[in-house]
Amino acid sequence: MEILSNIHMIDGINANSYLLLGDKITLVDTGMPGSQEKILNYLQNMLKSKPEDIKTIVITHHHIDHTGSLYELKKVTNADVAAFKDEVDYISGKKPASGPFYMRIGSRLMSFLTSYNKVEPDIILKEDDVVEGYRVIHTPGHTPGSISLYNPDNRVIIVGDTLRFNGEKVNGPPSMLIEDHEALKKSVEKISKLDCEVMLSGHGKPIPENASELIKEYYKTL
Ligand SMILES: [Zn+2]
Repeated sequence: MEILSNIHMIDGINANSYLLLGDKITLVDTGMPGSQEKILNYLQNMLKSKPEDIKTIVITHHHIDHTGSLYELKKVTNADVAAFKDEVDYISGKKPASGPFYMRIGSRLMSFLTSYNKVEPDIILKEDDVVEGYRVIHTPGHTPGSISLYNPDNRVIIVGDTLRFNGEKVNGPPSMLIEDHEALKKSVEKISKLDCEVMLSGHGKPIPENASELIKEYYKTL
């Protein structure tokens, strides 16, 4: 689905992935295990691009619904994998998945049932690094190294699982999926101070306009 001419969303792979088109193509998140075909088909059929045109894969956080197809996609694209420094060890498998019990169990079960292999990130991101025009903003709470990506030119923010939109209002992750409530609140405050028109998240719908207004409304409720 086209969000803007240079941003496409691939849904139905729980969680949403995004293709950012510039001089090169950047993929944000990779869906559940087995999503690679859907992502590559979209790339080939809708964007007339080749797998190797994806030069970077940015991971917003390590959960299986964001890293599930990373191994396969890295293999076919040969892209560099970029992730925030506090999230790298979870993505590489050096640390077991963080978060609630059933996420950890789910992760293990999926690794057992599918070819869910871990990947060592190539690029370790820090606050304020810029990836293809998108500034890295550390927004912990859902996980320790969760990031948002903010582009001040088109005022688009990609928030991973830190926020979501149900078509009416903005919310945080379900309470049982918040590892650190205080950190999450600070992260929402940080995002609410940015000038955002469009908000794109891992789950739920895109906010096509006036995103800041809805984000601020949500922050007031925390
Ligand atoms: Zn998550």
